Amino acid sequence: MRDLRPYVKTALTIAGSDSGGGAGVEADLKTFSAFGVHGLVAVTAVTAQNTNSIIAVHEVPPEVVVKQIEAVAEDIGVDAAKTGMLSNAEIVRAVARTLKRYDFPLVVDPVMVSKTGVTLLTEGAIGVLVDELFPRATLVTPNRFEAEKLSGMTIRTLEDARRAARAIAEETGAEGVIIKGGHIEGGDAVDVLYYQGHFREYRAPRVEGCTHGTGCSFSAAITANLAKGLSLEEAISLAKEFITLGIVTGHRIGHGHCPVNPIA
Ligand code: PLP
Repeated sequence: MRDLRPYVKTALTIAGSDSGGGAGVEADLKTFSAFGVHGLVAVTAVTAQNTNSIIAVHEVPPEVVVKQIEAVAEDIGVDAAKTGMLSNAEIVRAVARTLKRYDFPLVVDPVMVSKTGVTLLTEGAIGVLVDELFPRATLVTPNRFEAEKLSGMTIRTLEDARRAARAIAEETGAEGVIIKGGHIEGGDAVDVLYYQGHFREYRAPRVEGCTHGTGCSFSAAITANLAKGLSLEEAISLAKEFITLGIVTGHRIGHGHCPVNPIA
């Protein structure tokens, strides 16, 4: 049989597990598969979770998170990676230190609070994330609330989002910042990218449907496409279409926030 290893692309997610299968590593793996990329995992926390709430969180020791990253990077190889729920400062620090040893593209989803209001990153870890992981990031993907926290600015309009995206990139050393438009008012959902000194907007109709795990799946879709060698701007464009479709086709399961459907 021919050796197909050079043709198989891999993407690594460093994130929490959602027992409801809607967000976290479960969403990321489904998304990687949807784009034909082999998914790799470093679990940072196990959550007991359903569509209503997060009932319990068990954090993985930082050294075990690092071992998972090293195990897959050294044998299988990583073409691109993303981070999601990192839970605490010690995990952030360990992940940042480890990722500095590799040069694959990195998408950082600065997950802070779940849609159900549960803290997914301690307040004390936010500064560590900014100082130690953002400078390594190809792209950071905050939603409106995360971007407000990171920039100290109020974001109501697209002009506000532009100002905040630029400020976050310039102050932290992240190569690109995209502020997602799901929570910004307006007819369309418009994401604002600041990358290498210029702005670009990604626009889609504001659709009704299932939104649990949209942030995770969006950053995973970008990561999968970076793993395949697409440019950052093409990767985001495909991810935006993917998420819009995923919200509309989400399975109406459970009694709370139903999960986005990662299909390509
Ligand atoms: N649970 C885990 C493990 C996550 O990683 C995330 C998001 O990153 C969430 C829950 C929150 O998902 P949402 O805010 O879309 O409900």
